[in-house]
Amino acid sequence: MDILNYINGQLRPAQGDAWLQNPSPRDGQVFSRIADSAAADVDLAVEAARSAQPGWEALGSQGRHDALMRLAALVERDMEAFAQAESRDNGKPVALARKVDIPRAISNLRFFATAILHWGSEAHATDGIAVNYTERSPVGVVGCISPWNLPLYLFTWKIAPALAVGCAVVAKPSEITPLSAYMLAERCVEAGLPPGVLNIVHGTGAKAGAAITAHPEITAISFTGGTATGARIATVAAPMFKKLSLELGGKNAVVVFADCDFDMMLKETVRSSFSNQGQICLCGSRILVERSIYERFKKDFVACVKALRVGDPQDETTDLGAVVAEAHLQKVLGHIALAKEEGGIVLTGGERVHLDGPLKDGWYMAPTVIEGLGPLCRTNQEEIFGPVVTLQPFDTEEEALANANSTRYGLASVLWTNNGTRMHRMAHALKSGVVWVNCWMLRDLRTPFGGMKQSGVGREGGEEALRFFTEAKNVCIKL
Ligand code: NAD
Repeated sequence: MDILNYINGQLRPAQGDAWLQNPSPRDGQVFSRIADSAAADVDLAVEAARSAQPGWEALGSQGRHDALMRLAALVERDMEAFAQAESRDNGKPVALARKVDIPRAISNLRFFATAILHWGSEAHATDGIAVNYTERSPVGVVGCISPWNLPLYLFTWKIAPALAVGCAVVAKPSEITPLSAYMLAERCVEAGLPPGVLNIVHGTGAKAGAAITAHPEITAISFTGGTATGARIATVAAPMFKKLSLELGGKNAVVVFADCDFDMMLKETVRSSFSNQGQICLCGSRILVERSIYERFKKDFVACVKALRVGDPQDETTDLGAVVAEAHLQKVLGHIALAKEEGGIVLTGGERVHLDGPLKDGWYMAPTVIEGLGPLCRTNQEEIFGPVVTLQPFDTEEEALANANSTRYGLASVLWTNNGTRMHRMAHALKSGVVWVNCWMLRDLRTPFGGMKQSGVGREGGEEALRFFTEAKNVCIKL
């Protein structure tokens, strides 16, 4: 199977006929090849986008809404095929792709398609002597670069607001999980999306991604991925004065107070630790537990984790599928070795899981729980992005807060308490862009989403995304 670029409305290989291999994490076997694009392909995509953008903008918000809604309907029609593809490409349980990834991708398209119909801008009357109004116009041609962990979910989270406001897009999904974006391109053709409005260029970050970042006609870059990659992109894009939205790594704390609803907290903390094999930027990876319930939590949590089923992603009863790539599996195992060197005690997991038969070469890992490490060691400071969490006890709220805020990241925090004042006090003091209280991954697409510190720059979601992809112009009329 060939995963082709989508440029100017056509599905086509990269120039020079270059290809990358695409293995499935489920069995380690190559099942497709990916267009290995370079700067020349990005040039073609930008040219197509530049030609298409004025017409797309002129279509008006209703016309763009209609096109995005047609696309959403086609993804919904083919939900099962998308879920199977996402699972095959990424290793995630198909049940998760069915429940989370694909429905959310459809919601992203519909949310921004309709948001644009309801969006207004500001006007300011100035003391009876002037009227100001703010005009918001699409920034032009934008670059959207997305990661492998939630492939179609994060890809659509970027392209939908950009398209809704009237930008034309050159997008690059991760070369590790390109399949669902390719399937989306096929649906774009079927939906009659005007050629050039959305262009999807496949290939590596070093070649295709870097060419998007550096292209002088691309005026804004929306990127989700690792912090080091974000820094590299900023180095190139900032001196060119491109608008930048960076959604980067995390090392999220889950803070558990003794007064929480224990059973609900336990169930949700298992989920926030190991959903998608722990490969969600919002997963809690440092679990801080008030000392009076630490031993009880440890015992019950480890028992729940031991009961999780690592298995075939296609099996409905699987809790954890495969991690995304062999190199990633080795990286995560390397972090566990480091944790042991640092004095950590592995309470459960800690090793690769070998499945039988046709899945013997798949990249599976046991969910891992580690204790005995302080807040400042590398294990508790560096992003692992796999099925690994650490447990740390705390005595006071101040200690929990200092620990939670002690990393260079600030993406999300999870707080478990039924004390109302503490809830607000802690939520205010936690240095992260998202704070979940007594829940996890409960999303309202209207809310600002993004990280503080080295977890990112800017916010996505709702009007934040619509603003990002537009330029504001103030028009002042003297009365
Ligand atoms: P990554 O940074 O390796 O790659 C992300 C994307 O950037 C890919 O499409 C890749 O090809 C591209 N890329 C790589 N080098 C590039 C370059 N020099 N120029 C332009 N593009 C380049 O990240 P990943 O491994 O795919 O994803 C995992 C990371 O993403 C984790 O750190 C995770 O925390 C983060 N993430 C963050 C969020 C968030 O919302 N903050 C969401 C999901 C994932």
